[in-house]
Amino acid sequence: MTDFKGLGLIEPLSRAVASEGYTTPTPIQLQSIPPLLKGRDLLGVAQTGTGKTAAFVLPMLQRLHELNAKPVRKSPRALILAPTRELAVQIDESVRAYGRHMGDNGNGVKSLAIFGGVPLGAQSKALGDGVLVLTATPGRLMDLLNQDKVRLDKVDVFVLDEADRMLDMGFINDVRKVATLIPKHRQTVLFSATMPQGVAVLANSMMDSPVRVEVAPQATTAERVVQSVLHVPKAKKRSLLTHVMKDPSISRVVVFTRTKHGADRVTQHLVQNGVNASAIHGDKAQNHRQRSLKEFRDGKVRVLVATDIAARGIDVDGITHVINFDLPNDAENYVHRIGRTARAGEDGFAISFCDAEERDYLDAIEKITRQTIPVMADHPFHAEAMTIPRTSPPNRGGGGGNRPPRVRMQGTPAGGNPKKKGHRPTDGKRHSDKGHGGHGHGEPQGHGSKKTNGKATGKSGAKSSPQSSARPRTEPSRSGGNAGGGQRPLRSNRRGGNASA
Ligand code: AMP
Repeated sequence: MTDFKGLGLIEPLSRAVASEGYTTPTPIQLQSIPPLLKGRDLLGVAQTGTGKTAAFVLPMLQRLHELNAKPVRKSPRALILAPTRELAVQIDESVRAYGRHMGDNGNGVKSLAIFGGVPLGAQSKALGDGVLVLTATPGRLMDLLNQDKVRLDKVDVFVLDEADRMLDMGFINDVRKVATLIPKHRQTVLFSATMPQGVAVLANSMMDSPVRVEVAPQATTAERVVQSVLHVPKAKKRSLLTHVMKDPSISRVVVFTRTKHGADRVTQHLVQNGVNASAIHGDKAQNHRQRSLKEFRDGKVRVLVATDIAARGIDVDGITHVINFDLPNDAENYVHRIGRTARAGEDGFAISFCDAEERDYLDAIEKITRQTIPVMADHPFHAEAMTIPRTSPPNRGGGGGNRPPRVRMQGTPAGGNPKKKGHRPTDGKRHSDKGHGGHGHGEPQGHGSKKTNGKATGKSGAKSSPQSSARPRTEPSRSGGNAGGGQRPLRSNRRGGNASA
């Protein structure tokens, strides 16, 4: 197997990579690093979690080294555009980590992340002092460009990360404008989790005969995640959440809500019930968001409650579960959400609460992922009526129509068996379709927390069905979801914790 040196990386970079604990390049790194080192433009289709940040940062640093590029007042030599502030911060952390043995006297590369939501002063001063690598969100970059605090006339390497998100978020004009301010003679790299027409057109207008690399059919992320849906009346969702949170194997969880207000209410409810939780969303100040993320990463906070936009920059290892307190009204966001877990080759679980009004969202999600999400009926708030296929005659058991059969967990007596190992959620028919055109895009991430040594990432290779033979049996049930299940919380096989806690 090729190692990093075999890819042609110089010693300070391969040393930095080794101290990150990476032994083997991921598929996207194997494909991207050699052409980038040759100076080619590159168009990469890769999701977060594949190691794509290192795939562009390592050759970028090597190129700057070869050019003997030095920080110049106001004029960075490499520019990375990212859609969100969290992602910008995390990319910048990667630049620092991978560039730690480079720069003057090997003291590290001078880099900076700029993003909105904080005063301009410190950022413009740092730019004035000179940085080699600048990572920016488009809006803040435009502000600083307009004030002549930064210039792009010396940029040698231009990277657009999460281009599809950038377009979704309405940054297309800013991105185009920025591209015109960078010298034509440059290396351009574009990464995107999906390749909609808009991104293809943008790439075409900015790049010179790019090499195209692609890993993992889209939606692979979703395949690694063990998913379940819990039907519940809207008014019972919060009670269900506290019930679910009794499971100690849910040790690090992101709970998604549709609205900021909802995120605050859920957080408050959890805290009132003794669960350590923190909310991040667009109304929270940047320093609050960073602090919440840090506490979550450090394990001080068990639950991070987030809206879709705020969650984009979450790169935290070891997220055991994602809970969709509200189903997203945009089915693609479902895939982004559940991609927060099952990262770096780990297992992960996604639990979705679905009330009567959200049935259409569930249908849309199942359509886009081409999966039937197994119904987990074994909880005290199960809403029987909602699991009945809309197309089937009333009062018929599960399994009809295109809905999954309703199921309950293999019987433990009411109250649960404290010694029993945890279960994965129940299994309806779970079809996966690697070749489909879904949107397997986790969310932007970076390197805020470091990997354990040698951990392989690259979900692309992950072909396994996360469902194992240890799964509970599927059992059509018309008898109310709580039958036999009592208060036994949802559990995961993987961590197999002890229900007695
Ligand atoms: P990314 O897709 O760039 O957000 O990377 C996902 C995670 O994989 C990051 O936390 C990286 O630290 C980690 N990573 C990147 N490359 C490797 C590698 N070759 N081996 C192990 N972990 C890696």
